Amino acid sequence: GGAFSPETARKDFPILQRLVNGHPLVWLDNAATTQKPRQVIEALAAYYSATNSNIHRGAHTLAREATEAYEAGRAAVAEFLGAASPENIVFVRGTTEAINLVAQSWGRANLGPGDDILVPVLEHHSDIVPWQLIAKETRARVVPVPLGPDGQIDQNAYADLLSSRTQLVAISHASNVLGTVPPVREMTALAHRYGAKVLVDGAQAVAHFPVDVQEMDADFYVFSGHKIFGPTGIGVLYGKPEVLEGMPPWQGGGNMIDSVSFARTTYAPVPQRLEAGTGHISGVVGLLAALNWLTSFDRGAVAAYEQGLMSYAQQALAMVPGLETVGAAPDRIAVLTFTLAGHDPVTVADWLDRDGIAIRAGHHCAQPALAHYGLEAAARASLALYNTSEEVDQLVASLRRLTDSTPS
Ligand code: PMP
Repeated sequence: GGAFSPETARKDFPILQRLVNGHPLVWLDNAATTQKPRQVIEALAAYYSATNSNIHRGAHTLAREATEAYEAGRAAVAEFLGAASPENIVFVRGTTEAINLVAQSWGRANLGPGDDILVPVLEHHSDIVPWQLIAKETRARVVPVPLGPDGQIDQNAYADLLSSRTQLVAISHASNVLGTVPPVREMTALAHRYGAKVLVDGAQAVAHFPVDVQEMDADFYVFSGHKIFGPTGIGVLYGKPEVLEGMPPWQGGGNMIDSVSFARTTYAPVPQRLEAGTGHISGVVGLLAALNWLTSFDRGAVAAYEQGLMSYAQQALAMVPGLETVGAAPDRIAVLTFTLAGHDPVTVADWLDRDGIAIRAGHHCAQPALAHYGLEAAARASLALYNTSEEVDQLVASLRRLTDSTPS
């Protein structure tokens, strides 16, 4: 990629020009979803203006072009993740659907009574509940892996919980609440010694640092397009070829079959076998544009910029009276979850919104992670490459006006 500057990157985002409640938008809710550069918006408009067709069927020019665009997206995702082949990539609606697909297909075929699924306490609900659903049906167990005081996965406890019963370990590559980045390569190597498979939830990772699924040796890697500057409704499941090949269909329909008769239906090879029905073709086109946009920058420079901005924000927030950040591990992405003494998180978010500043308040779909800190809700500012130190200053100034105006 080429040189990176946040000022140049910002110019690509039309939404960053709008006013909210009379103030320029300060978007600090990037862990929920990222904004979209004009390159993505234009790719969607161009697709619907000039190419729109269903794919893989019909022998006409537009079907051919749409198919090429869809498969170009698959190839780009494979390259982006360091996968061996585009055939290792299955398109889904998002991280949630990818995990449910693995649970319902791989899980149903491989889990049974007495088997363990290891899930760290800090996981997003979408990396907990699908395992609970399939565990109930297969009489397997979902076993929580505890956290240390700094919010990192307790590695000694993890090593102790692994056993020959462990079939699967499901871990986030970066936490959406604590920002923590666990040592996935080491955790994967350890799980493999027991013959367990490893699913890595990259929803919060892919926008922040480069990922290499072969280097980390993950069996599954999943992410959502909308958290990496692409459209909503498109997501990715990467699987090792030998693991994907063993997966039975989950949803049935068009696109996923070899031949159908009432006597006997046979299925297409992966990835098509796992992509029933018409996919989100324009979503793939938009995701491709998003990946092209992001990888046009030097990713090391982007990561260094975000880390610098994160340190700046941590120091600035520490000056706000009564503010406490949640989690303190050193290896983190730019997610800042905090509480403000005397103010509930929703009030804090409402106050900031009046100044055009968007953060999230609530349980962040990670109730067990917050419960670890004795919390039911918290405020969260999450940064992306287009955020600036001026925006952090505005956040801090607005918070200080709140604490000044109301004695706690
Ligand atoms: N996992 C993590 C770590 C997340 O942060 C999120 C989104 N907050 C998800 C999974 C779910 O992603 P989606 O809603 O796009 O399916």
